[in-house]
Amino acid sequence: MLDKMIVKNLLNRKGQPMSCCDRCERNNVGAKYCSWYNAQMICSDCREAETKREDYADCRKAEREAISRGDFNFHFLPAWKENR
Ligand SMILES: [Zn+2]
Repeated sequence: MLDKMIVKNLLNRKGQPMSCCDRCERNNVGAKYCSWYNAQMICSDCREAETKREDYADCRKAEREAISRGDFNFHFLPAWKENR
C-alpha cells in the first residue's frame, strides 16, 4: 500500500515518470519547471528555449495580468511538443 502511494507520487499527470519532460518527452531530464505558456512540466532545456521565443515577453505580461485578475489557470498557448 505504502509502496503504491510512493510510486503514484512519482508519476506525472500522464502516468509517466516525473523525470520525463512534457514537451520534449525525454526521460530522466528532471522536468521540474512549470512552463510559463501552459501547464506543461518541462526540463531546463525547454525552459531555456521558452525564454528565447519572440513571444516570451508577451506571454509573461499576459500571465501576470491573468494572475492579477484571479485567473490561476491561464494558458498563453496550448501544450506543444518539441524535438531535442
Ligand atoms: Zn524538455
